[in-house]
Amino acid sequence: MPETRRYQIRGVVQGVGFRPFVFRTAESHSLGGWIRNDSDGVVLEIQGNPSQLEAFIEEVRTNAPTLARIESVALLEQRSNGEAFDGFAIQTSERSAQARTLVSPDMGVCEDCLRELFDPADRRHLYPYINCTNCGPRYTIIRGVPYDRKMTTMAAFPMCEACEREYNDPYDRRFHAQPVACWDCGPRVWLRDSRRPEEDPADPIGETAGLLRDGAIVAVKGLGGYHLMADARNEEAVAELRRRKRREEKPFALMSASLDAAREYAQVDEVEAELLSSIARPILLLRKRRGGGIAESVAPGSRSWGVVLAYTPTHHLLLRDELDTVVATSGNVSDEPIAFEDEDALERLPEIADAFLLGNRKIFTRVDDSIARAVTLGDRTEVTPLRRARGYTPSPVKAPFRPPPLLAVGPELKNTVCLSRGEDLFLSHHIGDLKNEATRRSFEHAIESLSKLLEVQPGLIAHDSHPGYLSTAFAREQKALPTVAVQHHHAHMAACMCEHGLTDPVLGVIFDGTGYGTDGKIWGGEFLVGDYGSFERVAQLEYCRLPGGDRAVEEPFRVALSLLQQAHGSFSEVDVPVVNERSEQERQVLGRMIEQGVNSPLTSSMGRLFDGIAALLGVRERCRYDAQAAIELEQLIEPGARADRLLDWELHRDEQPMRVDPRPLVRELAGEVERGAGSAAELSLRFHSTVLDMVLRTCLEIRERTGIATVVLSGGVFQNEFLLRGSFETLSEAGFLVHVHRQVPTNDGGVSLGQAAVAGWGAR
Ligand code: ZN
Ligand code: ZN
Ligand code: FE
Repeated sequence: MPETRRYQIRGVVQGVGFRPFVFRTAESHSLGGWIRNDSDGVVLEIQGNPSQLEAFIEEVRTNAPTLARIESVALLEQRSNGEAFDGFAIQTSERSAQARTLVSPDMGVCEDCLRELFDPADRRHLYPYINCTNCGPRYTIIRGVPYDRKMTTMAAFPMCEACEREYNDPYDRRFHAQPVACWDCGPRVWLRDSRRPEEDPADPIGETAGLLRDGAIVAVKGLGGYHLMADARNEEAVAELRRRKRREEKPFALMSASLDAAREYAQVDEVEAELLSSIARPILLLRKRRGGGIAESVAPGSRSWGVVLAYTPTHHLLLRDELDTVVATSGNVSDEPIAFEDEDALERLPEIADAFLLGNRKIFTRVDDSIARAVTLGDRTEVTPLRRARGYTPSPVKAPFRPPPLLAVGPELKNTVCLSRGEDLFLSHHIGDLKNEATRRSFEHAIESLSKLLEVQPGLIAHDSHPGYLSTAFAREQKALPTVAVQHHHAHMAACMCEHGLTDPVLGVIFDGTGYGTDGKIWGGEFLVGDYGSFERVAQLEYCRLPGGDRAVEEPFRVALSLLQQAHGSFSEVDVPVVNERSEQERQVLGRMIEQGVNSPLTSSMGRLFDGIAALLGVRERCRYDAQAAIELEQLIEPGARADRLLDWELHRDEQPMRVDPRPLVRELAGEVERGAGSAAELSLRFHSTVLDMVLRTCLEIRERTGIATVVLSGGVFQNEFLLRGSFETLSEAGFLVHVHRQVPTNDGGVSLGQAAVAGWGAR
């Protein structure tokens, strides 16, 4: 007996070829019915025998298109009588009052498109903007909803007949692919070479490859912005790029044509290979291999490369024949946001780029490359994001409760913002450090465009409790809306809880660089107990003076002197290079600053402790990029190693909060350095292992007192692989249930999610 069922399917099911897929599935089962987009996803009716219907819906669930993500399939209605359908139909959607669909992130070019790209018989042979419903730009070109061509930057390119036919054919891979285009109707790329302004080569991409092979630096338009490219095997070109970009030592990312090309210079395991080749195409941190032929100045002193595989058709056309790997770094001058508009690129980058490979498909929202890393945690490998942007934004994180519509504006560094819609928390792409006008504009654009895309009118703004952040100032300027200040490390903790759907109280081990504390001091080595609603600081790293404030972040020797002063009473008595290398005057000034607390705020930052120890051990006294000292201290050791002998430290249990006191450890390390005993690597291992002991013993004490055995690890210091893996393993062995970040960065890039969760919980 045939029956008719009505289903609603939610998730990422629009703009990803979902309706034609359902159409084809229904046809292949010879079932009648219809499907249409609605405000929550798609609604469909399907008619047949119960067993046929079960088989059909099973296939819909399991074989959905690459970019689709089904969150739920709900049976709305079931009836046994009624008219028979004449075949299966795709109904064009009515625009509903509130769009609730999820826009897909931007995706790398798919296998099918790649095959066509290199097929001389295909009408899109070598066409640099080839795409289909399974791949290509999305988030970066959307101006608003509903998601169709009119609302994208492709509106400027009316489709030719052939493209239109594909667009309207449910059997075609390009059915309703909004950015569909071809040589006849679509956007073009061209080369502008400042040294030969009159020339307009017929093969701009081939010409660009030639320039790169000759050692030139070229700005190349990508999905979310411009890259600056140079031949990665040409030491001179890479060094020149560093000089022009004013970027001294911070590693550059590499782009390779294929997995095989990447394997020549990097170690790639199974999980990493899969992630590298995924359509999200993040930059992945991979161990260097010896003799890969990559210029050392790409990532000087680092044990890993940041690697991304070619993800636009242009990249694939560029990286062929003798040029399989290039440096692909964001098209900006240090600290500024990445250039994404042609005029902007031409204006800002001529000092850096010899030539520009431009294109006229406009980017509406600039989006950087994402960065991720695979880490071993116990018996499994987890991927953890370090920067969440292209390929991931705007996929939401599901909150375990339903906050009201709100906006969280994030912290100051590595800023992201977050908007809520129902249980979905939408983290923006990585915006950057809110320190200049350009980044601030891009912060405001992100808020505006994301609210428009999601059709959310926030009724509340969450911000960091730091009074001096630009994001805090922005929140306060929105006079019509109430604001909620969220403590920085509470936000870190809440972000990790939220990712894992936790609502019961947890123990948050939050190791961080900088965050404004409830006592006005700079926090960052915190053991918090609480949930979204509130928290208690049950233990902290002992406060230490930071002579010069922010300058001490760039000059870790200042922290080392302060730690020595604290541990020994006076650093002058300690006979170690970090003291001896200071001038007499420097010693006097810094000594007085620390002594009297002049321009020397107190901090409990774990990040600073790592910096200070790095300087004490002679690893690095001055940083040229964020966290360089701590990174180099970690690179001396292997993530899975453990020292046989720990350093001494104390837990002051009777204080409120309890104090994790590193003074004995500082004295011991200083003694070893004085005696010249132990290499920096050995001492680094002993220090790192001791920090694991701090984590374990402090957590045990807290579990004893509170009975809480669920731990979340968050904060920028957990980018340290040794520490993340070690804490996870040590705590797990002791019977804790340990959660680490998997969807959003453990660094400040994840803070806006936590702010949204905390403010949303309070207002739900
Ligand atoms: Zn495709
Ligand atoms: Zn066309
Ligand atoms: Fe932080």
